[in-house]
Amino acid sequence: MTTIRESDFVQSIAEALQYISYYHPADYIRALTAAYEAEESPAAKDAMAQILVNSRMCAEGHRPICQDTGLVVVFLKVGMGVRWDTARSVQDLVDEGVRRAYTHPDNILRASMVSPPIGERRNTGDNTPAVVHVELVPGDRLGVRLAAKGGGSENKSKFTILNPSDDLVDWVLRTVPTMGAGWCPPGMLGIGIGGSSEKAMLLAKEALLEHIDIHELKARGPSDPIEALRLELYEKVNALGIGAQGLGGLTTVLDVKIRTFPTHAASLPVALIPNCAATRHIAFALDGSGPAELTPPRLDDWPSIAYDATVGARRVDLDTLTREEIAGWRPGERLLLSGRLLTGRDAAHKRIVDLLDSGQGLPPGVDLRGRFIYYVGPVDPVRNEVVGPAGPTTATRMDKFTEQILSETGLIGMIGKAERGPAAIESIRRHGAVYLTAVGGAAFLVAKAIRSSRLVAFGDLGMEAIREFEVRDMPVTVAVDSRGRSVHQTGPAEWRSRIGKIPVTVEA
Ligand code: SF4
Repeated sequence: MTTIRESDFVQSIAEALQYISYYHPADYIRALTAAYEAEESPAAKDAMAQILVNSRMCAEGHRPICQDTGLVVVFLKVGMGVRWDTARSVQDLVDEGVRRAYTHPDNILRASMVSPPIGERRNTGDNTPAVVHVELVPGDRLGVRLAAKGGGSENKSKFTILNPSDDLVDWVLRTVPTMGAGWCPPGMLGIGIGGSSEKAMLLAKEALLEHIDIHELKARGPSDPIEALRLELYEKVNALGIGAQGLGGLTTVLDVKIRTFPTHAASLPVALIPNCAATRHIAFALDGSGPAELTPPRLDDWPSIAYDATVGARRVDLDTLTREEIAGWRPGERLLLSGRLLTGRDAAHKRIVDLLDSGQGLPPGVDLRGRFIYYVGPVDPVRNEVVGPAGPTTATRMDKFTEQILSETGLIGMIGKAERGPAAIESIRRHGAVYLTAVGGAAFLVAKAIRSSRLVAFGDLGMEAIREFEVRDMPVTVAVDSRGRSVHQTGPAEWRSRIGKIPVTVEA
């Protein structure tokens, strides 16, 4: 019988979460590098370069790949010969590991969990609790797989129960475009087929913890119908032309993973969960001999990319910018921003709108006239950092506030990630404003452009407070111009038509 000591388990969970916060899995880096080299869309290639450069910086600097350091999901396979040397619950032990990891002073991670989930939604402060799944299996080892899942990609999870005669490929190809770019492609799709409703979702989530091996599968050819389905979906999803960050391009997914389970004769449950550019997961086993030993990757696993953000980019001074100037920007154009901007995301927007509705106006120090707002919730700084990793959050969540804020505050621009909805685009057009995107999954790189940070309002909101950043040469792309033209519509449409001319061949 194996005895798992409480301290070994907690330490292993904490160290694994620190590890995955700054090390991408090597298979993801290899697959993304290959996609980067093959990419023909300049905008998508630029986004992939930023993700790869950011990834290497994080591996070297031991700082988080993304400002959203994730919801912790743990799958445990507990051998039936395992004895636990603890009086605490497994949930309690995992949460202790999460707490230690997320409050580590050398690499503090962002606490994103709120409780209760509806109503007050107070941040728990240490990213607990984790979501823990336990399975009893034969043997005397403890198998641990864990992930830190980004909210942007988790929010795009889909589930359906098809009729048994329905076409699953058709459902996936209709569903993926509805997910927009908020899941920060290129990433992976995890697909769970069969079981019951909850089983299909678990299958999809577990599938995302597997290694990327689609290129090996392509090379050797499928050996069963599920492998053939993986290849078919991989080719056809990429043929949608969505591309990195939804900008249009050749690669949207680096792999498609499928897990199956027998199901009821009347049902075909299907779950689809995407994983984002901040793919973070690891597996290890404990056998009672001590904590897990995690080997750091070799830095030569990362490509050496000489990324120069200044090439082909327009320099913009945010402090002197006028509506006339932004009217000259075009979708897909790359900009380097310098000057002052304000930050704010979900909770800050809600408060601003509540204050406007009540007639109280904006809080002291918050003057949005002629300004840009950056949708971001940064990681706290460590050592001499001005701010921790500070990449963009999904802009669509701010869509419902956009008309009122543009019409009542004088704001002229927004920076976030992913597409805007039709109503927000129409507001942007009507007010001659503009929407820019930064690359989701390149948060440490973006943070290097932030030269100072000052709390302006709503300090009680923590990472959601309004700050003023002074930035220098912050790389962004014009996503919606002042005429309401969106690169998230034109880019994928263009690349879908280009890729559509390449015949898709799927081996049976
Ligand atoms: S890469 Fe995008 S979806 Fe993933 S954690 Fe970061 S912001 Fe969220």
